[in-house]
Amino acid sequence: MSVLVRFAPSPTGALHLGGLRTALYNYLFAKKLGGKWILRIEDTDAGRAVPGAVDGIRSALEWAGLEYDYGPGIEGPHAPYFQSERLDLYHKYAHRLLDSGHAYRCFCSPDRLATTREQLARSGSNATYDKACLNLTDEEVARRVRAGEKFIVRLNDGNLPDRSNPKDLVFGALRDAHASLPTDPVLLKSDKFPTYHLASVVDDHEMGISHVLRGEEWLASLPLHLDLYASLGLKPPRFAHLPLLLNPDGTKMSKRKGDVQVMDYQRKGWEPEAVLNWLALAGWGQSHIKTLQEDASSPSSSCSEGEDHHHH
Ligand code: GLU
Repeated sequence: MSVLVRFAPSPTGALHLGGLRTALYNYLFAKKLGGKWILRIEDTDAGRAVPGAVDGIRSALEWAGLEYDYGPGIEGPHAPYFQSERLDLYHKYAHRLLDSGHAYRCFCSPDRLATTREQLARSGSNATYDKACLNLTDEEVARRVRAGEKFIVRLNDGNLPDRSNPKDLVFGALRDAHASLPTDPVLLKSDKFPTYHLASVVDDHEMGISHVLRGEEWLASLPLHLDLYASLGLKPPRFAHLPLLLNPDGTKMSKRKGDVQVMDYQRKGWEPEAVLNWLALAGWGQSHIKTLQEDASSPSSSCSEGEDHHHH
């Protein structure tokens, strides 16, 4: 199979060591298997964007010698590489979901949503919304859209066909994967920007990504992403979540406890090779590497099948 992977940072600040390691693993995976990798900028959260962050990420990758095959500055078949330039695409997919009944428009005010969420949380439910707008008639929806009312688009997750437990190439088969998933997740925000979930699923599909290698913090979103693929009738890529980088004492790396930004190491005169060498070894496990390689060279294996044999 041909391998195409992506590193997909959000431009919300300087590149951290954890981000550099994710980039490195994508790079190594692509190089090892004769594939390519993309730098994709996930800038759909206007409120969190930091000016200059994209330049910072690019120069950190350049310092580290991790040259991407496609991305900002390197045009290619998957352009554009900024999600903010791909909004039409996300709207097309959102409409597909609306038309097939897998998504619905929600006109509730932010106030009502907050109150509802509080009430549901107090009653011990993992629902985040009471589905009030799921019951609007088509005529009512059309009328409110025509009247220019603001709305968000939610996934209608009540009648999904296949919700088997997903399989991750590093973490193995996930159990009770859907149990803690927030219900009726938002796909399009009222400013017409997609949420991370919709944008990343659409782009991974449109770009033809074969393997998603990303940080463990996204593992909990995997079942939702697979719900989206199922709702759209699309075949998902394979997923490998990379365990978080931790301090030697097992705590989360943070600024308070030492240097966490790539820039810090650059400034202090570290050789990039030394930093990369350390990152490559941190969190390395022979069995994971073998699993990934075997998976990439096997003709097909579905993401939601297979036994649970690689626990980390
Ligand atoms: N934009 C996400 C981040 O900054 C990337 C998640 C993913 O790779 O799917 O962590």
